[in-house]
Amino acid sequence: MTEYVVPAAPQAAVPVVGGGQFPVRRVFCVGRNYADHAREMGSDPSREPPFFFSKPADAVTVASEIPTDKISTKFEFEGELVVAIGKGGADIPAASALDHVYGYSVGCDLTRRDLQSDAKKTGRPWDMSKGFDNSAPIAPIQPAAKIGHPGKGRLTLSVNGALKQEGDISQMIWPVPDVIAFLSTLVVLAPGDLIYTGTPAGVGPIVTGDKVEIICEGVTTCSFTLV
Ligand code: MN
Repeated sequence: MTEYVVPAAPQAAVPVVGGGQFPVRRVFCVGRNYADHAREMGSDPSREPPFFFSKPADAVTVASEIPTDKISTKFEFEGELVVAIGKGGADIPAASALDHVYGYSVGCDLTRRDLQSDAKKTGRPWDMSKGFDNSAPIAPIQPAAKIGHPGKGRLTLSVNGALKQEGDISQMIWPVPDVIAFLSTLVVLAPGDLIYTGTPAGVGPIVTGDKVEIICEGVTTCSFTLV
């Protein structure tokens, strides 16, 4: 047995609906994948190739209570469809990309918007505005074997019962097969990888006590409270 010189990290994992755990390897996120959100962030939503950023595997959490961020004064939600990769590969063709999907979930790409805006202005990395602890809430994963491969479905996010974001996953600039195809040219995808597929318009700040609920029709619901 390997003798690690400091304690090895526990395997990050997300429960699967119906039993078992999905071991999280890496977390990739798509930027600006809905035209209305690209516009609200001041970008041209033309169909330029998708871009990606990452969060650490242990940023993923299924906890119902998420600690309020201590640093950000503009701590924002982004409700997203999440893809769970079951079969790895490089240069995966879009036509067969869905064969690589184990399942789907719904998650929140929590963002320190103030830090992200500073990073954009100064040309610095986004890591500390996106990839911090507990920055990737997620619901238990629904196997594709059970729910299929949803190409459409209403995606909503509400805070304390008030609707904040509303879109449809059919409105993605780059649908799931294209996202997988592009991403697999940049890295060799592997079982356990999660892909947060981008958010529709309406992102905004949350504060302690706020309850966030994200629903993707035909997939699942993710909810948590900031404490
Ligand atoms: Mn996002």
